[in-house]
Amino acid sequence: MHEVADFRSDTVTRPTPAMRRAMAEAEVGDDVLGDDPTVKRLEALVAGLFGKEAGLYVPSGTMGNSVSIGAQVRPGEEMIAEEWAHCVNFEGGAAGAVWGAMVRTLPGGRGALDPDLVAKWIRPGSLHTPRTALVAVENTHNFHGGAVVPLGTLRSLRDLTRERGVRLHLDGARIWNAATASGVTLREYGSLADTLSVCLSKGLCAPVGSVVLGDREFIDRARQLRKRLGGGMRQVGVLAAAGIVAVEEMRGRLAEDHANARLLADGMARLPGLERAGELVETNIFFVRTTRGPARDLVERLSKERILALAMGERLCRFVTHHDVDHGDVERALAAMGRILGGGGS
Ligand SMILES: *Cc1c(COP(=O)(O)O)cnc(C)c1O
Repeated sequence: MHEVADFRSDTVTRPTPAMRRAMAEAEVGDDVLGDDPTVKRLEALVAGLFGKEAGLYVPSGTMGNSVSIGAQVRPGEEMIAEEWAHCVNFEGGAAGAVWGAMVRTLPGGRGALDPDLVAKWIRPGSLHTPRTALVAVENTHNFHGGAVVPLGTLRSLRDLTRERGVRLHLDGARIWNAATASGVTLREYGSLADTLSVCLSKGLCAPVGSVVLGDREFIDRARQLRKRLGGGMRQVGVLAAAGIVAVEEMRGRLAEDHANARLLADGMARLPGLERAGELVETNIFFVRTTRGPARDLVERLSKERILALAMGERLCRFVTHHDVDHGDVERALAAMGRILGGGGS
């Protein structure tokens, strides 16, 4: 159990002692000059896991998506994404502001784009219409409560985009959670997209960083764009070293986070004044709807009990489990909510 039970996000996870040691001992060089052996080791390690030719270490998932969009969509071309996609809603409008990309959002069941609908919207470009250059999918889907995109959907999207000459990008910020829940291998997920961006700093507990993956030509271009955005870093092996530990040691325990999320969600489902938004808790994220008052009131009362969650809309609250909250924190949170919401808690 922890002093504060922080369910706001898995980004709050702190580097583990093993990471701190690896960081202290990391062999480093100037990575902009291509001299940092630890960064190279991380990039090769992650590329290998997903069966991709090359990787590029970037400071954040946002920059990972951004350089992936910039490298594959020219100004005035179109990118298709699900309407609640992180890269459209939570990244400062980068696709348009930085790269001049047109964005077409489409509705998706639990965050999964419908391949038939996407097929209707892929356009070759003409005198009047923009050319569709990229389809972006998100797995797991953050705003749809950590939903895992079904393998069949990903396969259909891959076949469709190949056939129509459009690129497919997978925002795999939490692909590790998707693989843990679905049993699909990282290599298979890698084979289903042209490019991927995967986060080290969420459930895997690294302090900083994501890795962008794809073929060598794409990664060369992404490297130029990373530099353009100011994301070229020097002796950054001190951070990449934590990323290596994250990938090698932290993936195996994610099922624990998923079990804690289910426990917390099931307990909360029995409390008055709350209803679950979305039926399934597949991974480490879920949303609840407050039925009696604003979400921020509940969040405020919880914070007085040293339990943190995020209000994400008038009636919507998000809870995320991770390495730094445990079974005891879940039980304490349920007991506190039982008191706050008035009974029915056991
Ligand atoms: C967190 C997240 C990102 C990017 O995260 P950063 O905070 O920029 O590292 C991208 N996509 C999804 C789905 C995410 O959840």
